Amino acid sequence: MTDRADIWIEELDPPFVRMGHSVWPWQTATRISRRAAALGRNYSRGWHCAYCGELMPEWKRIDAKYCKEGCRKMAARKRRERKIG
Ligand SMILES: [Zn+2]
Repeated sequence: MTDRADIWIEELDPPFVRMGHSVWPWQTATRISRRAAALGRNYSRGWHCAYCGELMPEWKRIDAKYCKEGCRKMAARKRRERKIG
């Protein structure tokens, strides 16, 4: 089982998102709802990719800054270029 299927986010008019999660046994539900609460805090602050500005996918780590590996790499490349230029 992956986290990807546990929680889903639907983007409404910014800054609002709708969040749901599927029904699980108590222990799993506790874990998911903790994660959902953390996600909720992130989204309420505006959790967007630091590179492309897309809303972060709900399955990303709570402390993730980029929506995908490509964005992380591009951001790293940009930082290096800025140092040289
Ligand atoms: Zn991105």
